[in-house]
Amino acid sequence: MKRRRGKGLFLILCIENDVLLKRIQNLNIWEESDTIINTQSQSLKLSGDALQADLLVVDSYYSTNNFNLLNVVRSKIPNTTSVVIMNSGFASAANPGMKFDFTFHEDNQELPGFSDLISKLRNPAAAWPVASEFPADTVFNAILKNMAEGFMYVDNDDTIIYANEQFYNMLGYSQNELIGKQGYKFLIADEDRDILLEKNKARRRNVSDHYEIRMVKKNGELLWVSVIGTPVTNAEGEVIGSVGIISDIHSTKKSETVLRRSTGILNTMLTNISIALLETDASGNVVFIEGKAIENVGVNTSDTLGKNISELFKGVNLYLSTGETVPMEIVMERVLQGEYINGYTEYVGYNFENYLTPLFNDNGMVAGSVIFSLDVTERMTFLNKIRETEDKYQTLVENINDIIVSINRDYRIDYISPVVKRMLGYEPDEMMGAPVQEYIFVSDALPFRDGVMAVFTGIARPIEFRAVTKMGTIKWLRASLRPQYLNGRIISAQGIFSDVTEQKDMEDKLILARDRAQEVSRLKSYFLANMSHELRTPMIGILGYAEILQDELKDDETKRMAETIFASGNRLLETLNLILDLSKIESGKLEIINVDINIRAEIDNCIATFATSAAKKGLYLTFYPGEPVSLKLDKRLFRDTMNNLLSNALKFTHIGGITVAVNTEEEEEKKFLAIAVTDTGIGIPERSKSLIFEEFRQVSQGYGREYEGTGLGLSVSKKFVESMGGKIIVESIEGSGSTFTLIFPMENEG
Ligand code: ADP
Repeated sequence: MKRRRGKGLFLILCIENDVLLKRIQNLNIWEESDTIINTQSQSLKLSGDALQADLLVVDSYYSTNNFNLLNVVRSKIPNTTSVVIMNSGFASAANPGMKFDFTFHEDNQELPGFSDLISKLRNPAAAWPVASEFPADTVFNAILKNMAEGFMYVDNDDTIIYANEQFYNMLGYSQNELIGKQGYKFLIADEDRDILLEKNKARRRNVSDHYEIRMVKKNGELLWVSVIGTPVTNAEGEVIGSVGIISDIHSTKKSETVLRRSTGILNTMLTNISIALLETDASGNVVFIEGKAIENVGVNTSDTLGKNISELFKGVNLYLSTGETVPMEIVMERVLQGEYINGYTEYVGYNFENYLTPLFNDNGMVAGSVIFSLDVTERMTFLNKIRETEDKYQTLVENINDIIVSINRDYRIDYISPVVKRMLGYEPDEMMGAPVQEYIFVSDALPFRDGVMAVFTGIARPIEFRAVTKMGTIKWLRASLRPQYLNGRIISAQGIFSDVTEQKDMEDKLILARDRAQEVSRLKSYFLANMSHELRTPMIGILGYAEILQDELKDDETKRMAETIFASGNRLLETLNLILDLSKIESGKLEIINVDINIRAEIDNCIATFATSAAKKGLYLTFYPGEPVSLKLDKRLFRDTMNNLLSNALKFTHIGGITVAVNTEEEEEKKFLAIAVTDTGIGIPERSKSLIFEEFRQVSQGYGREYEGTGLGLSVSKKFVESMGGKIIVESIEGSGSTFTLIFPMENEG
């Protein structure tokens, strides 16, 4: 409500009703200087002071009857306060399309509302409370109480004089703990204290400030706050303290830190790892492009910004894990329709693994896309190398003649190499996962299982078994399996199955042949044993009578005949005895009866029987008996051996003679008895020394049978000596003579 200065009120009345006009004019409220004009409908013209009227008063008849005219008036004084006075009983006559600021009713003669309005117009200030009436303290307290921020007042020493409850709550202190204390000493984080002291200094120079700082709560936690600090001055303008408005910005600050950190991490990744990050808008235009991989492939980021992605990657395909190959334009179309797509691309010789993600706005509409690409070129190269090596091994495995196999702890086949098809006729695929015993000949299944079980306990040994081929035939295989460890535990038995069928057949044949040979040899020995017995018995008769005839016959010629019969018979008997002995040895029927024998006496006896023959050949026969000794030996075997050696010596010596010497020898603390028969005969060539102990061997046989003999003597003697625990050795120089030595351990000493 405004008022013209220095004059009384100016009222424009539009009252048709004279009674009402009178009543207004007669009211007790008008002053000398007031101007009141009433205008009739036809003479309504406003000019001069009227255009600045304080009030327009209209009666309800007028507003109804002269609606258009009144509108013209009001348009001339649009800001003037307007009043309508309603006639009783005609209340609804006021035109509803016209608005007035106030409405009064003429029922009451005094028009009380109207009088009040006039007095308010006359003194507008009285209508509002005066400034001195503003309850500053109350309002101030209400603000301090209800504001969200903490509030504090400190003096120039920074001593806390006042703080609101929010401030205490913010830090977890009570009023008593803070009032009168210098807050900066313990309420500010050590690292920020200098900042605060600096700010306080500035404030004393009357400078306001706004800053962020870390405070320390009572429980020791740090709290990020924002502070608006304002100096407070007295009437003289001196700074007497300051007020601070403190807001908790901890969570904002924290998320700011998190954001800064994740931005930092992202930047580090983008600059150090070979990745690329692209963002596009909803039409696929690049709005962000960053990353080391971008540099690597030689793309200029600023050239790329704003370009359309489909254009940038024209001709580039995305290889999806489903095996699909999709051109990049199509991929982008799909992503910008809300699809998430991953796949591989090849770009200027680099391989990328890509994650294409649509970006949605709050309304769920696609607002763009993000493409994250990881450079996997190195990994691909590495994988390719592995694949090459794998292929190489695969070829090796396939070409090897043995089956490579892995059997797991359930005795099922984990792996079997393709060569199985060639060896057993099965496809590797049909065997994989199957129990291994399904392929093993039934009676070998258990031993095979035992063998594999042993591998699982860490003991590896070859297992031979028969496998059943797809055709139903049998093949001999040899499994060489080793335990396969994972984290110290045996998880499978791995190794090879080799086909040993041929080898097995050969072995079988050999065994058969050996058995047959042994059988034949045994039969031969039996035969010989029987035969020699059959031959020997009649020989006894022949020899007996030949000996008698030798003595009885007086006629020289017939006597010589008898002697020849006797000598030939004896030789035949010797041979038969040797054959019999050999047969006995071979058929394991040689009886050995060890008794104490007096070596000297025994040798003496033997030598005696050869004395005549030696003398006849003009040879000496000397005996060096040594210390008397008796050993536990088989008398017959010992005697036959001695006789054999002496007989050979005599047979192969023509000049000189034979010496028999008995000595004790010591070797490695063991005592031996050595009986050496030395002759000065034809000797034995070096190369023949090992042969002479073989059956039927005669070194001298090449001499045109100059020397009689069967070739059995030495081999029988050797066996005799060995069966008594001794050995026989020969030393000889061809043309000078030979020494045959019998060696017996003295343990046999009687
Ligand atoms: P035999 O004397 O019946 O032929 P032996 O088995 O007793 O059969 O001897 C085998 C061969 O060893 C003889 O044929 C001879 O060639 C050789 N031999 C054995 N003793 C002597 C020896 N004292 N001097 C030379 N050669 C000998």
